[in-house]
Amino acid sequence: MAAQITAPTAQTASTASVDLGPASALSCRECGERFELGPIFACDQCFGPLEVAYDLPLGDPDALRKQIEAGPANVWRYAPLLPVPADVADKPNLNPGWTKLVKADNLARELGVTGGLYIKDDSGNPTHSFKDRVVAQALEAARAFGFTTLSCSSTGNLAGAVGAAAARAGFRSCVFIPHDLEQGKVVMAAVYGGELVGIEGTYDDVNRFCSELIGDPLGEGWGFVNVNLRPYYAEGSKTLAYEICEQLGWRLPDQLVVPIASGSQLTKIDKGLQELIKLGLVEDRPYKIFGAQAEGCSPVSTAFKAGHDVVRPQKPDTIAKSLAIGNPADGPYVLDIARRTGGAVEDVDDEQIVDAIKLLAQTEGIFAETAGGVTVGVTKKLIEAGVLDPSLTTVVLNTGDGLKTLDAVAPTTGPTATIRPSLDAFRDAGLATH
Ligand SMILES: *Cc1c(COP(=O)(O)O)cnc(C)c1O
Repeated sequence: MAAQITAPTAQTASTASVDLGPASALSCRECGERFELGPIFACDQCFGPLEVAYDLPLGDPDALRKQIEAGPANVWRYAPLLPVPADVADKPNLNPGWTKLVKADNLARELGVTGGLYIKDDSGNPTHSFKDRVVAQALEAARAFGFTTLSCSSTGNLAGAVGAAAARAGFRSCVFIPHDLEQGKVVMAAVYGGELVGIEGTYDDVNRFCSELIGDPLGEGWGFVNVNLRPYYAEGSKTLAYEICEQLGWRLPDQLVVPIASGSQLTKIDKGLQELIKLGLVEDRPYKIFGAQAEGCSPVSTAFKAGHDVVRPQKPDTIAKSLAIGNPADGPYVLDIARRTGGAVEDVDDEQIVDAIKLLAQTEGIFAETAGGVTVGVTKKLIEAGVLDPSLTTVVLNTGDGLKTLDAVAPTTGPTATIRPSLDAFRDAGLATH
């Protein structure tokens, strides 16, 4: 069932000599209908979303593992499993990925996790969020289809990632955001020099506007990374799954806690794990995927808890603006995955998000944006509820950098004391240890 009905549009960009490596076709997630690789995103039979199908390098897992390990320390080490040409690493792009998988022993002690707790810290990407991974794939598709302008609808992080990638690759960019985003995200989206347009409305309004623009001559020749290039874009999230498993020594984690905005990332992490199993790169054993939302924008978690298959749209009101998508396109697929793997979808309120940001900072020295507060907060809540098993290996995603969402913690964080520059004043402040 398609969550978002968007009419397929006729495209004019050339698809004659498309080289997107192992990508062989687009296939409809709902009815399985196959299409030639091109800048299309919805099935013209059933309106289901399209995703990339591959000729995967099945055969010798040891050789493939060695090839990957010999590759660059970025997402292109997985080029044989992505919709990109084989020489992708030679082209100008931001080379994101291969971020740290941090063994979080202090946080584990605090939360009572004994089976090993890890933070996959994607704040280390070039524009400080996981979005660089997906934009890198969309950029290659844009090159292949002959687009010269990169665009997107964004909750903030994507706009910055598109602006930066376009600047480096020599594309024009024009990106669209809700007008009321955090200053850090607005500045970050504007500094790379592309056009930045604030839309008076929510992200869902921005997204609807972009869908209209694509179908209009005004948007002709534009590659919208998360609309008409969405099938390619979405594949970038698989690299999170690949990296986590490789960094664990080619092993599946038992449990993953993943943030949900549109639900694309969670869906494609599952696709990536399934591919690793199919390729024989990891041992096939059960894993559970847990989805994390903010209470102020929790359409998927609400549906999960109510046992529904349909996700009812909400009007977002939360400090976790990067996750504030009230009508998540991949929501129903997230529900399927959480249920199939034995996971769950949970949400935390704004206060719990701030507390979790501080908990992660104070135990591991990692300053996460609000989305990281959501995943750490949900992890804590699910452990306390007995849903997440603390004796199992657990990977929690931090998908962005706290410097972009300072407003979330600024009201409750500041200097311990402000004093005159004298020893007496310092002694009086009561901070000396002897
Ligand atoms: C975009 C984003 C996500 C996930 O988005 P999906 O639409 O669910 O793929 C997660 N965290 C941050 C910080 C993001 O910007």
